[in-house]
Amino acid sequence: MVKETAYYDILGVKPSCTPDELKKAYRKLALKYHPDKNPNEGEQFKLISQAYEVLSDENKRRIYDSGGEQAIKEGGVGGGGSGFSSPMDIFDMFFNMGGRRPERGPKRGKDVVYQMSVTLEELYNGATRKLSIQKKIICEKCQGSGTKNPAVGPERCNNCRGSGMQLRVEHLGPSIVQQIQTVCSDCGGRGERIAAKDRCKQCDGKKVSKDKKILEVHIDKGMEDGQKIAFTGEGDMEPGLEMAGDIIVVLDEKEHLLFKRVRTEDLLVNLDLTLTEALCGFQKGIKTLDNRTLVLTSLPGEVIKHGSVKCVIGEGMPRYRNPFEKGKLIVQFLVDFPKHIDPVFVSQLENILPPRPQVEMPAGDQPVEEVTLMDMDIEQERVQQSRHNPEYDEDGYEHSHDPRVQCATH
Ligand SMILES: [Zn+2]
Ligand SMILES: [Zn+2]
Repeated sequence: MVKETAYYDILGVKPSCTPDELKKAYRKLALKYHPDKNPNEGEQFKLISQAYEVLSDENKRRIYDSGGEQAIKEGGVGGGGSGFSSPMDIFDMFFNMGGRRPERGPKRGKDVVYQMSVTLEELYNGATRKLSIQKKIICEKCQGSGTKNPAVGPERCNNCRGSGMQLRVEHLGPSIVQQIQTVCSDCGGRGERIAAKDRCKQCDGKKVSKDKKILEVHIDKGMEDGQKIAFTGEGDMEPGLEMAGDIIVVLDEKEHLLFKRVRTEDLLVNLDLTLTEALCGFQKGIKTLDNRTLVLTSLPGEVIKHGSVKCVIGEGMPRYRNPFEKGKLIVQFLVDFPKHIDPVFVSQLENILPPRPQVEMPAGDQPVEEVTLMDMDIEQERVQQSRHNPEYDEDGYEHSHDPRVQCATH
């Protein structure tokens, strides 16, 4: 039982989530709330980043689970200052941006990340999708000078008095304010700007303009959730930088109604069987992701147990870059038992099924009592119990000494 769930709630995951589930949740939210896409959600972007920074670190997650946010702050997550890393650093690290750039070499514009939702069919069969992007390019009219009169140089920015930085006041509570230094919004940190009368009409002195473009995204067979496809040099251009950044497309696999992808190259499917099919044999068809029908037939005399698992080799997902090899199709059988059997047929069933074991009741003076078995809904009781006492652990109802909850009477 964790002390607080706030960090988990921010990321929309359960406290029992795996590191992979955590990564996926962060990826989706960070892209959604990234300041490039959602300039007004900076606070939310920061919270997501902080929650992920703590929960993605095994050690910090343990501290948070036992002591909550207080323990994390006291421990000083990153050491110094607010304790947390910058949300942008976490983002760049996650998407592996910046890291692969050479220290020296041409300075490049910003990379831009797009998320693309893809179906399991597209990842199985491969696909080409179009992606409409918008990027900053150097203004063609003024060639990035921002001025219509190249003889006139820029003037000092009044807003930041040439420093390129400005102070923003943030209200943290009724009487607590924090001053935050940010890049000057008027001059974009350059400390200088072009006088209104000299500005290039096309870009309004910003030196860059926006360009729309359609990119063709090739989804190869076997690609997986979270995989990145880079378009070198298709990102933003910035004045003074020699090269444009990259566009990075991150694939987001949609859930499939029938198949669940496991361990990258296997597929899991649940197959419902009636009790008759489980005992007497069955033939079933499964429609594959490329529209073939696989026919599954049980062996004569074979009994399929509820929850048992079999597999078909070579009918899973294609392997990335080696698509003629495929993983397994894992079939899990769910046997639907009949709710009721007509007592008239019970003796006939007994003739076929294995004999029942002999049960002896205690003889002599030992007390023997006949009792009634009632129906009971364990899930329902768990909910009631946790409302009654939030500190109860998951299977708390088993240790309960309260006789009222031991048996439902509906
Ligand atoms: Zn211009
Ligand atoms: Zn300024």
